[in-house]
Amino acid sequence: MERLQKVIAHAGVASRRKAEELIKTGKVKVNGKVTVELGTKVTNSDMIEVEGVKIERENKVYFLLYKPTGVISAVSDDKKRKVVTDFLPYVEERIYPVGRLDYDTSGLLLLTNDGEFANLLTHPKYEVHKTYVARVKGLVSRESLRKLEKGIKLEDGMTAPARAKVISADKTKNKTIVELTIHEGRNRQVRRMFDAIGHPVQKLKRERYAFLHLGGLSTGDSRELTPHEVKQLR
Ligand code: URA
Repeated sequence: MERLQKVIAHAGVASRRKAEELIKTGKVKVNGKVTVELGTKVTNSDMIEVEGVKIERENKVYFLLYKPTGVISAVSDDKKRKVVTDFLPYVEERIYPVGRLDYDTSGLLLLTNDGEFANLLTHPKYEVHKTYVARVKGLVSRESLRKLEKGIKLEDGMTAPARAKVISADKTKNKTIVELTIHEGRNRQVRRMFDAIGHPVQKLKRERYAFLHLGGLSTGDSRELTPHEVKQLR
């Protein structure tokens, strides 16, 4: 037996709070009857409809993908470009990415069919640490690193404190490899931060997400998260 709002949130229909609102406003039916009670407990065999649409109650599954570049962080694309779920054809559940990586960015991406888990991890308050390795144009000074760490003024506001360090610098090729750890997830944030300090990103890879790392995976490879990893992320 589980609470109705939890089941709706788990199905990926809405966040827990939105699910409660849907219930209170009479948009949810259990076995054909409108239910406005938040405490309602349901079993696996109860049929739940949200705004007239039956919700699917699949097993929850969690995967880690080493996303290659040139792939969209989506489950389908109208221009027929490659999407991340193409790399997990063995998964029968309807998984989708947790947040996104740009088309040109490679690296660690989680996929799940657990909507509540995905909402939680992508909520700004949750502050998941993400570590990126960027190859940028130019030689990055210590002062520029400090700017990245203190916060950069972007058009959608200041970035939160971050950690930045130079991995290597190549004077002849005029490029620097920088490791940057942020805990926000704004659109194209890393690229915009480097643009703002005058060092455009040439190549970007997400190495770590919370305590997870790519380990020995090759680009395009995926693996299931262990139950322990899923628990730690919650
Ligand atoms: N920041 C970016 O600029 N791109 C990504 O894909 C992820 C973070």
